[in-house]
Amino acid sequence: MLSIWACVETLKSVQRNHPKRTLYERQRLETYKRPKIKPKALSEDGLKFESEHYLLTFSEDIKKVPKFGSTQERISRGLGDLIFMEGQYEFVKKIFGFEAKDKIKIIVHRTLRGNSRDAYTSMSRGMKVVDNQFQAAYNIEVHFGIDAFKKRSVQAHELTHAFTQVYALPAWLSEGIAVLVESEYAGGALWAKAKRNLEPIGLDENGVNIIQNWRGHGSTLPDKSIETYAYSYSIVSELRRRYGDDFFKKFFALLDKDGIHYKAGVLSSSVIVYYMSQAAGEDLVPFFQQLKFNVRKLKRENILSILAN
Ligand SMILES: [Zn+2]
Repeated sequence: MLSIWACVETLKSVQRNHPKRTLYERQRLETYKRPKIKPKALSEDGLKFESEHYLLTFSEDIKKVPKFGSTQERISRGLGDLIFMEGQYEFVKKIFGFEAKDKIKIIVHRTLRGNSRDAYTSMSRGMKVVDNQFQAAYNIEVHFGIDAFKKRSVQAHELTHAFTQVYALPAWLSEGIAVLVESEYAGGALWAKAKRNLEPIGLDENGVNIIQNWRGHGSTLPDKSIETYAYSYSIVSELRRRYGDDFFKKFFALLDKDGIHYKAGVLSSSVIVYYMSQAAGEDLVPFFQQLKFNVRKLKRENILSILAN
């Protein structure tokens, strides 16, 4: 389970400090066609909806929330949100190659763990081998408190975790990816501004970039949280800029092929760098060492020994 409380707080504080932009100042966003299969309401009370890749449920208590009181209000909101989420699905599929074989369940509550701004993703998974390759069967549920759900940027961020969670990525990578989608699909222009150069934001007592062992939403790096999300985004963007729009797609395809994320627990940065090097067609150890990551060059035999365990 993953709590995004800290992140929502981060966003709030960024949004609070961010001057309002006019329409003309906004960066150009990628847009996608409306889904071929139209989202539809599954019940007459406006509490259940379905689209090509999602099942959306509003909990009963949402009827007490302003603008969700009438059936018509809930239906127009639910269908609109599913169109937005289907657009995001196309976006993450294009950049990262993520696809969900089973529908992702989204449940929206008036409050979640006592907080309307809370959200988390839960996942249970099974594993099967098809044609000598690992294939997973997931049940992914994304829960939102209503105020988290109402913010499209938070929606986009958390839904991205629904796709990344299976890979057991270190936080700098999963948050960097979530912020990229938030920024470049949901128009979280605030992050584009927060993006920074690749200088480490700090070193730990061993001289290692503190981002390497950052724990993401569960972290307590008090004054650094905006910086840590923005810095993670900077690393992910830089890799995409250097190695092309297909880089992350190739990277995730290689992970899928080996299925190493089922074997290794949270993937170490050296394992990540091994697969990124394969995707890039060059050794990325020097790039990460320059960022003061503690990584070493792994050989195929190291990977095979992890896979054999
Ligand atoms: Zn996150």
